[in-house]
Amino acid sequence: MMTQDSCYSIRQLSGGRKMSKELQCRDLGFDCDGVVVAENEDDVLVQVADHARAVHGMTDEQLSDPDFQASAREKIHDQAS
Ligand SMILES: [Zn+2]
Repeated sequence: MMTQDSCYSIRQLSGGRKMSKELQCRDLGFDCDGVVVAENEDDVLVQVADHARAVHGMTDEQLSDPDFQASAREKIHDQAS
């Protein structure tokens, strides 16, 4: 019942603090140990796109698909430090 709200509060928290964002390639469905870490979600998505294109053969078309971008963004979490 609070999945939506907690999503927004995480986003607000990260805005005011320096906290790295992390996305594990495995979470996208690839059998891969790759982990992308960046300062914010947008940078994570850019790097994930580079990685997925180079390593997993995804096309620009697939990578720019709104559904893929949305699901990838959902998988991003704060890096445990
Ligand atoms: Zn990968």
